[in-house]
Amino acid sequence: MTPASSNDDAYRPRKRLFIGVLCGACGTVLLLAFLLWWVPSVGLANIHPVLPILFGTVLGATALVVVAGLGLLILTLLTGRDLFFSNRLRGIVIKYLFPGIIALGRRCGLDRDTLQQSFIALNNQLVRARHLRVSADRILILLPHCIQQFDCEIKITGDVRKCARCGQCDISGLSELADRYGIPMAVATGGTLARKIIVERRPRFILAVACERDLTSGIRDAYPLPVIGVLNRRPHGPCFNTEIVLEEVEQALREHVVPGSP
Ligand code: SF4
Repeated sequence: MTPASSNDDAYRPRKRLFIGVLCGACGTVLLLAFLLWWVPSVGLANIHPVLPILFGTVLGATALVVVAGLGLLILTLLTGRDLFFSNRLRGIVIKYLFPGIIALGRRCGLDRDTLQQSFIALNNQLVRARHLRVSADRILILLPHCIQQFDCEIKITGDVRKCARCGQCDISGLSELADRYGIPMAVATGGTLARKIIVERRPRFILAVACERDLTSGIRDAYPLPVIGVLNRRPHGPCFNTEIVLEEVEQALREHVVPGSP
């Protein structure tokens, strides 16, 4: 098990940076809307004087909706509250707006991992703000295969309970934690298997452990299912003997399990 330490800085989301990207996205949307209106408006006015006004109204309304969504995201980050009063709006932001923001941040030369960490942190904040409590048997802890010790001979992909709990990797501590709370746990070797496990087990809440890339796509794919994402640590490089800060997992479970549930 990896204790939380100053080395964890690499895995800590930079809120300020992300708020900067969001503000940049607001400015870009407004500028694009203006240019899209301004460039063809002379030609439109030649067809009919009302057309530029109509076109401008539609463009302006669309831009305002996008900017309002971005503004809510900024406020959510600042206040720590879920300010998305509609599930659909939250879904649009998570599924569509975020990929756009990450693409914009990349264009500005920002690190993809950092942007994805911010996305995961914001998603976790939105899920936590809903104060969900779920019976232990309807929660699923979903793990990547790379947490298992590389040379362990036990095949835990089909059944994680086969782990002998020798303590060589974090599967051991996670198994004990899952037992203590009575929560099912599964190991997935990729996105396809993860989706299959979710379809079969039909959880109401997922605690997923993975790297930035897999968590980002997993959270988007699973929506509207609530997913708390916990980043794994990769001291030996990607996808090899990765580690987990067990307290992060336990904290998320404490917040979402119905106390005393089966
Ligand atoms: S803790 Fe379990 S999975 Fe990890 S090396 Fe030991 S037996 Fe294998």
